[in-house]
Amino acid sequence: MTVAALEIPFERIADPAVRRIADKVAAGTRLSQADGVALFDSRDLTGVGILADAVNRSRHGDLVTFAANQHINPTNICTLRKTCVFCGYARLPKEEGAYRYTIEQVMEEARQAKQGLTREFHIVGGLDMQAGLAYYTEMFRALKAELPHVHIKALTAVEIAHIARIEKMSWVEVLAALKEAGLDTMPGGGAETFSAAVREEIANKKLGAADYIGVHRAAHGLGIRTNSTMLYGHVESHADRMEHLQMLRDLQDETGGFLAYIPLAYHPDDNELGKRLGRQGIATSGVDDLKNLAVGRLFLDNFAHIKSHWIMVTPFVSQVALHYGVNDLEGTVVREKIYHAVGAQTTQAMSLDELVRLIRGAGKVPAERDSFYRVLRTFDEAVAA
Ligand code: SF4
Repeated sequence: MTVAALEIPFERIADPAVRRIADKVAAGTRLSQADGVALFDSRDLTGVGILADAVNRSRHGDLVTFAANQHINPTNICTLRKTCVFCGYARLPKEEGAYRYTIEQVMEEARQAKQGLTREFHIVGGLDMQAGLAYYTEMFRALKAELPHVHIKALTAVEIAHIARIEKMSWVEVLAALKEAGLDTMPGGGAETFSAAVREEIANKKLGAADYIGVHRAAHGLGIRTNSTMLYGHVESHADRMEHLQMLRDLQDETGGFLAYIPLAYHPDDNELGKRLGRQGIATSGVDDLKNLAVGRLFLDNFAHIKSHWIMVTPFVSQVALHYGVNDLEGTVVREKIYHAVGAQTTQAMSLDELVRLIRGAGKVPAERDSFYRVLRTFDEAVAA
């Protein structure tokens, strides 16, 4: 989708390295991983942002979308509790704080959607041995029976592979059964950083990069659109980040099945890795948050949507990010548990009013979208909460 000609204000880009990359962008030449590393290395944050903003404007103009969604985390019991050292959310089955919702408890939480504006459930949780295929198919059927208008975006590639393993089924069989029960699309979590060396350090038992890509490829093959992420700001290098983005871009070239890219900032509190790195209380910098979004916009030239997750980087950084290549904000999340378990200090929900004000405050035009990024409505001056 192109809504305007690409206009790059070269004179405002100070770093010659970024200007050289701007020449490639203007010529329609794909960026290499080395270009991406140069963008990350550059001290010209403004120049990188100007370039990403120009590309974003050519695709989306001033439009910024968000979805009215509700997060549901049905279980925090996870077999990888001890080995994903960046995670503060998971518990072992008998550990204090462990929980697994019954289907009725899921429904109780979901019923909030009846009063509100929720159009999407975002459902992810731990790798729980007691939460197999029947648990999720029953959950999705119950949700669709009572709230048929709400889209189900559920289960990361890691959870799909876990269900396949405990049920002794293939990924395709699991995905087909979940789709039949009501799964509409999938989130992109669980990717972390693809580099094998990084995974060895932060999540050595987790589904590997090739299998994460394989599950998404299988989903795309069944017509299930998915999202993609990268966890940054821990032990990864700039080259690791670019290797990761290259794998996402390659799969998108092959299938076109990704809806959006969402870089996720690592939070160091209440997890083993934060202690090991001596980083507790020190989250990613605003500069790095903006760079990750801008480089995502520039390198992932086959992705329409780059989304900022305000829960992780604060609403204020997300607002500024609207001038760094971002065209979509995380929506009106209700009750977020996973990032707040590792120290996210942000509020757990934002009203429609607040989101609209945030977007307008950046000089942009807010619009509510559906889970396929189709615009549902824009807003006049007065907004109902
Ligand atoms: S990151 Fe996911 S898979 Fe790893 S321990 Fe946490 S909940 Fe489990």
